[in-house]
Amino acid sequence: MLYHSTRNHTQSVDSAQAVLAGLAPDGGLYVPAELPEIDVAACLQESTMEMANRILSAMLPHIPNMEVLVERAYKGKFQTEELTPTVDTGKFTVLELFRGPTSAFKDVALCMLPQLLTAAKKEKGMQEDILILTATSGDTGKAALAGFADVEGVRICVFYPEGGVSAVQRAQMVTQEGNNVAVCAVVGNFDDAQTGVKNIFASAVDGRLPAGNRLRLSSANSINIGRLAPQIIYYFKSYADLLRRGQIKMGDKVNFCVPTGNFGDILAGWLAKKLGLPVGKLICASNANNVLTDFIETGVYDRRRPLHKTDSPSMDILVSSNLERLLYFLSGDTALVAKLMQELNTEGCYTVPDSLKTAIQAEFWAGYCDDARAKQTIKAVFENQHYLCDTHTATGWAVAEDYVNQTGDNSPMVVLSTASAYKFPAAVLSSLENAPEMDEFAQMERLQELTGSPIPENLSGLQTKKELHTGVIAKDAMLDFVMGL
Ligand SMILES: *Cc1c(COP(=O)(O)O)cnc(C)c1O
Repeated sequence: MLYHSTRNHTQSVDSAQAVLAGLAPDGGLYVPAELPEIDVAACLQESTMEMANRILSAMLPHIPNMEVLVERAYKGKFQTEELTPTVDTGKFTVLELFRGPTSAFKDVALCMLPQLLTAAKKEKGMQEDILILTATSGDTGKAALAGFADVEGVRICVFYPEGGVSAVQRAQMVTQEGNNVAVCAVVGNFDDAQTGVKNIFASAVDGRLPAGNRLRLSSANSINIGRLAPQIIYYFKSYADLLRRGQIKMGDKVNFCVPTGNFGDILAGWLAKKLGLPVGKLICASNANNVLTDFIETGVYDRRRPLHKTDSPSMDILVSSNLERLLYFLSGDTALVAKLMQELNTEGCYTVPDSLKTAIQAEFWAGYCDDARAKQTIKAVFENQHYLCDTHTATGWAVAEDYVNQTGDNSPMVVLSTASAYKFPAAVLSSLENAPEMDEFAQMERLQELTGSPIPENLSGLQTKKELHTGVIAKDAMLDFVMGL
């Protein structure tokens, strides 16, 4: 099974090369020429780690010894062996993706990616060190740093928007230890940091930084197929949980509601469906940055709008990179995708053909929820279901309610929970009570007292850890920063 760019299908690479490269040379994203087949019934009987081995071996067949890599990536790193537990709240089923080492759903992928990269590097006999370059809106940064810290043959540099991440997220990143890590704030918003990273990639010659720098660039953003593929696993896992609990029979359709920004998490759900999992609708939940809601409803993608800072900052995104993969999969037309992406770049807007819009609407439903409603939802879910959720998860929950109310579709609903409530303590606590002014760490304590839900261990010790990375730079100084590493 080979991969090619979403913008050109004439140049193929194998899955190890796709993981090493991250982005295709023409700026497109790597997609498999055809999707592999897996034995779904067998997969659903397995433990999460066995599922991971089966799914990743199928998606990335040129990376050997997957079983060992999966073990190294996950064993002992998550709160439970099942990695991503599901909770039956009595209303929706919540799929908890945040039980990993940094309390972010991105841990699922970013524990695995370093193993995939180093194995791919070995497979291809690559000698040079890899530099992982990433822009983060909060959670990716820490999860990537934790995944890559002290991994041999790889270095990692993370840029985050100054003031654009929570105090807890910032503390998580700037205290990161490891002899191969760099972290720096950029004056601007997430899109500025992301654009800066893209420009550095564009200035690279043959995958390397200019001026004879020997590092080879790669990315940990969900544009890398090695980042996306591990996210398919938890869709199978949650379906298996519903089966085991007798809530569904094999073959019953399950709907998934996904709070999404880059369209990565929800695209993984679509891939799970294409691999044979009985998925009904995929519900795309956005916050006030509802560019995806508009797109799925109208077929017009228009990024020419202000970026709102919300209480669910990991979804404050106007350019959803992974949507490009869906456009390719549903049209099969690389020339069309190249044209649309060109329009997005030059005009900030594109319109898909009607047939493509119809194909998207057949599989996806979209809605959005603003901060006020997300807070009401946190309160209502805690009072009615005794379940504590964060702002991103609440966004998903509210949109899942809208979906059920507007369509009458009462199939089982899984809401993906992408962060611990303790990652966003200010917004979560103020949803539950009128608390006096206090810092985020005091808010975490208060939240624990109020709800009885324990603060995850990786967050409780943060305040006393030493800050190691305090730099702030202008967005046009990012290349210099990287060259100085
Ligand atoms: C990254 C992130 C998301 C969005 O994930 P996508 O890959 O952009 O779909 C949602 N919630 C949280 C907490 C995140 O960190």
